[in-house]
Amino acid sequence: MIRKLLQRVFQPKKKTPGTNSDVQKFSRRTHGIDKHKISSGALKTVEGLQKAGYSGFIVGGAVRDLMLGRVPKDFDVATDATPEQVRQVFRRARIIGRRFRIVHVMFGNETIEVTTFRGSHLAVDENGESDAQVTDSGRILRDNVFGTLQEDAERRDFSINALYYNPATEEVWDYHRGVPDIKAKVLRIIGDPETRYREDPVRMLRAVRLSAKLEMQLDRATETPIPKLADLLQDVPPSRLFEEMLKLFLSGHAMESAAALRQHGLHHGVLPLLDVVLEQPMGERFVKLALKNTDDRVQQDKPVSPAFLFATLLWHEVLTSWQKHQSTGMKPLPALFEAMHEVSDIQAGKLAIPKRYSVTMKEIWGLQPRFEQRAGQRPFRLLEHERYRAGYDFLLLRCESGELPMELVEWWDRFAHADTETRNNMLQPDTAPKKRRRRRRSPNSGGSQGPHSGNTP
Ligand code: ATP
Ligand code: MG
Repeated sequence: MIRKLLQRVFQPKKKTPGTNSDVQKFSRRTHGIDKHKISSGALKTVEGLQKAGYSGFIVGGAVRDLMLGRVPKDFDVATDATPEQVRQVFRRARIIGRRFRIVHVMFGNETIEVTTFRGSHLAVDENGESDAQVTDSGRILRDNVFGTLQEDAERRDFSINALYYNPATEEVWDYHRGVPDIKAKVLRIIGDPETRYREDPVRMLRAVRLSAKLEMQLDRATETPIPKLADLLQDVPPSRLFEEMLKLFLSGHAMESAAALRQHGLHHGVLPLLDVVLEQPMGERFVKLALKNTDDRVQQDKPVSPAFLFATLLWHEVLTSWQKHQSTGMKPLPALFEAMHEVSDIQAGKLAIPKRYSVTMKEIWGLQPRFEQRAGQRPFRLLEHERYRAGYDFLLLRCESGELPMELVEWWDRFAHADTETRNNMLQPDTAPKKRRRRRRSPNSGGSQGPHSGNTP
């Protein structure tokens, strides 16, 4: 009996998944997270999991944002329950995704994303086989292996994104010195920076985006390899790049982010044309105005249109190509359409702008020559166009950047707000050669029409 007791006392404590001697546990006094700032859906999700005997933590961006006193965009939960087990715990839950199966748990109109702890892609099973696939450059294609809490923390990108908050104890568990990094405002990648970027080059974009958005300094070792590895972005599927760039430009810190992209040589991989644009003074002015405009709107919680944004980012490239085609004798409109297709084709290879945006983007460009026509019925028709407002806002940027005289956009502003009589008085004389309308030959009119009969309706 005594031997058994002694054995129990001196036996090393069995490691339970998710516990590790390196973990630091911070209490409310240190991390300062106010539980009331957490959405009720997230709290109910964690509670549900814990009641069913699983672990449940709020993780990722939300913990980081709460500690920084920011309002989290959304709440993610991590657990040791498998997706099937999670689904069984909640009444309204469904498994989504093929690559990483995650569960969406719904409460009212709130959706909480629940992920099972993921293991290292280097992990092997009892047969010595790994479920992961890695390319020659080190990029991970598939790593849907379940793991422990500690492993889950290790495969997250930055120390500040690898914090686990348990609402029941109000503790934050930290495996990678994330809490001190938040306090010091340092963005540090977990593990060996180069290896982590090779595994997933998008992390380089995330480094730039998060440091701009959170106003954090990039740690030296985290920053150093980026320019050297920038080309790896070329292997990332264009649709994923688009999503990440959209997050970057809609972060409310597009200006700083674009500057940081350039500073680290990352823009070649994503917006090859932006480089050329930023090198021309007028192009740079235009893009800066557009990004400032977007940032202001995001910060005022106004909607921003990705189509408009990408239309601005690529405009000066379209403009150059438009002028080139016109100088070879092409008419303005066909020349513009040729330029639009050229630019979208080059861009599409790197970063796929989804069709729902690229169609509108081209509409905005396509409307531009119509703003220069201020005679006859044309301005009235343009006002009726469903993209008039976007077209006008775009014109405003063109004028403000010095590409066109301010007088043009001021004219449109007055025209749009005037009564019909004033509008008619504002019209410019119609100097365009009148189109001759040929009268349709009626079967019994015989003979050809004279040259002046075209104006007769
Ligand atoms: P945001 O506030 O913009 O949503 P976020 O950090 O929450 O920033 P998400 O894309 O929502 O970004 O990702 C949630 C979490 O998933 C991150 O906090 C991080 O822990 C992890 N994560 C996301 N992308 C990666 C990645 N490429 N590599 C490793 N971990 C990642
Ligand atoms: Mg997030």
